[in-house]
Amino acid sequence: MKTQTRVVVIGGGIAGCSTLYHLTQEGMTDVVLVERNELTSGTTWHSAAQVTNFGMNQTMVGLKTHSINLYKDLAADFEYPVNYNHGDGGIRLANTEEQMEGYRHFASMARGMDVEFEVIDAAECARRHPLISTDNLIGGLWDGNDGDIDPAQLCQALARRARKAGAEVYRNTPVTGLTQHKDDSWTVHTEHGDIDCETVVNACGYRVNEVGAMMGVHHPVMSMEHQYFVTEDIPAIAEAGHRMPLLRCPISDYYCRQDKNGLLVGFYEQDCKTWGMDGIDPHFVNALCPDDLDRVTDVLEGAFARMPALT
Ligand SMILES: Cc1cc2nc3c(=O)[nH]c(=O)nc-3n(C[C@H](O)[C@H](O)[C@H](O)COP(=O)(O)OP(=O)(O)OC[C@H]3O[C@@H](n4cnc5c(N)ncnc54)[C@H](O)[C@@H]3O)c2cc1C
Repeated sequence: MKTQTRVVVIGGGIAGCSTLYHLTQEGMTDVVLVERNELTSGTTWHSAAQVTNFGMNQTMVGLKTHSINLYKDLAADFEYPVNYNHGDGGIRLANTEEQMEGYRHFASMARGMDVEFEVIDAAECARRHPLISTDNLIGGLWDGNDGDIDPAQLCQALARRARKAGAEVYRNTPVTGLTQHKDDSWTVHTEHGDIDCETVVNACGYRVNEVGAMMGVHHPVMSMEHQYFVTEDIPAIAEAGHRMPLLRCPISDYYCRQDKNGLLVGFYEQDCKTWGMDGIDPHFVNALCPDDLDRVTDVLEGAFARMPALT
C-alpha cells in the first residue's frame, strides 16, 4: 500500500469509483481508493440503477448525457463488458395538462443541448408500453436514452479503468481516522497503515458522517429507506418481443422497469423514513432493511391501476 499520494478517495460505491476514474481522466493518476469491505458493498449493489437523461436543468441534463455516453462506452468494452440496457426508452407519465406543459418546456430546453425528448399522447404511451392502461392518462415524456445498468459491474469497470491509468484500489481497508496538518494536507489512518495526501474525498454513502466525524465536520445529509419489489415472470413481457420501456409516474410516485421477464417496481415515498440516525451497525454490509409494504400501500394502488398485469 502507498504511504503517500495526491488524493485518497474513501468509499468504493458508485460515487467513489466514478470520482477515482474521473480524476485519472483529468490526468491525476497518483490517486488511491480505500474501501472498508469489497467494492459496492454499501448502497450501490442494490440500486435499481436506472439511468435517465432527464434533469431539472441544463447542468443535470449535461451530467446525465456524459454518464450515458460513458456507460455506452463501458458496455461496449469487450475486455470487461457491463450489462447496460439502453435504447428501450422510458416514459414519464402525465395525467394533468400542467405536467404536459412542463414536459414541452423541458423538451425544448433539452433540444437546445442536442438531447431529444418527445412529448407523446396517451395512445402512443400505450403503444410503446403495452402493459399500461390509458385510464386517466393524458400522455408522457419519452426519453429514448432511458435505461438501467448493472451497478456492481459498473463500479468494477470504472475501478478497472482507473487502475489501468495508474490509480490503486485497496479493498478490506477501513479508514479509522483522519489527521489534518497545518499546510492543509492529510494523513488517512487505515487498519493497514497510514497514507499522506493533499486531498481526501469522502464518498462513504450512508457512512458519510462516520468519516465526517473523523474530520470534525457534520454533513447535512441523512439516509432514507427506499423499497422496490420484483415480480415473477409476466407472460405478456416475454411475448412482447422487445424490452418494456421504463415508467416513472410523478403523480403516484413509483417507477417501474423490466427485470428479466418480470417487473421491478419502486416507490418514492412521501411519508419517508430516515435510517441510521442513531448510528449504524458496523456489520451492516451488503445488507438490506426489512420490508415495510404498509408504508407504500397508497402508491402501490396507483401502480396497480396503471399496470393491471401487476395484480
Ligand atoms: C433500492 C434502491 C434503488 C435505487 N435506485 C436508483 C436508481 O434507479 N437510479 C439511481 O441513480 N440511483 C438509485 N439509487 C440510489 C443509488 O443507489 C445511491 O445513491 C448510490 O448507490 C450511492 O452510492 P455511494 O457511492 O454514494 O454510496 P455506497 O454505495 O453506500 O458506497 C459507500 C462506500 O463507502 C464505504 N465506506 C464507508 N465507510 C468507510 C470507511 N470508514 N472506510 C472505507 N470505506 C468506507 C462503504 O463500504 C461503501 O462501499 C437507489 C438506491 C436504492 C437503495
